Amino acid sequence: MDILSTKGEKLAERPETGDPTIADRVFTTLHSAILTLQMPPGSKFSEAEIAKQLGVSRQPVREAFIRLAQIEFVRIQPKRATEVCKISEAAVLNARFIREALEAAVVRDACENCSDELIDQLEDIVERQRKAVAVNERELFHDLDDAFHRSIAEGSGRGLVWTLINEQKAQMDRVRYLSLAFNEPVVIREHAAIIDALRDRATSRAETAMRHHLSRINSLIAVLRQQHPQYFAATQAVQGTDAGPLNLRVPALVKPAR
Ligand SMILES: [Zn+2]
Repeated sequence: MDILSTKGEKLAERPETGDPTIADRVFTTLHSAILTLQMPPGSKFSEAEIAKQLGVSRQPVREAFIRLAQIEFVRIQPKRATEVCKISEAAVLNARFIREALEAAVVRDACENCSDELIDQLEDIVERQRKAVAVNERELFHDLDDAFHRSIAEGSGRGLVWTLINEQKAQMDRVRYLSLAFNEPVVIREHAAIIDALRDRATSRAETAMRHHLSRINSLIAVLRQQHPQYFAATQAVQGTDAGPLNLRVPALVKPAR
């Protein structure tokens, strides 16, 4: 099966522009294929197989696998095929917690120091998201969602915070992408509410709108786990324990002596 067929040409056949490197392009191609579930969670691939499909040597594939392992998109196993990680609900919820805390603070800041140009820029992004929905360009919609959040951070002088958010959000990205199948109009409405609050410089309203927008992944994940159970890792009831179930007993209630 040609997993990466939608990319068409072989990467090595593209004209060299000097930048990005072949390893960067292999990373981008595989990242996109994993995000869009062309390479579904739990599937396995060898370096040689990917290198052949992309028409590159094994070295850039190895480098891309290492970068993908760092964001927990793949698990590299010595002498075995590399596996696309299943989606960990706990990791998604942790990433959401960090992201919500950071972006709530960022949007509060933005209310105090954002420019009218930033508001225009955000409106333009949401308009492009509407067009992406109209032509069913889900990956573009997802990229524009990132652009929306990155613009708020950078536009309020918090570009560095976006770097931190970016490191966390990979865990959420496949859930967000999957949810777009039924969630795009809601995302657009939520983005519009954030813009309205920013335009009014309404700090509390902006923070509430941002928290609502990001925390909704909690309910989306439950729906998606039902729709696509094969994409999700088994839930760990208690993280970090491997000593079997706890054997706690509730003491019998003793009626106080009269
Ligand atoms: Zn968003």
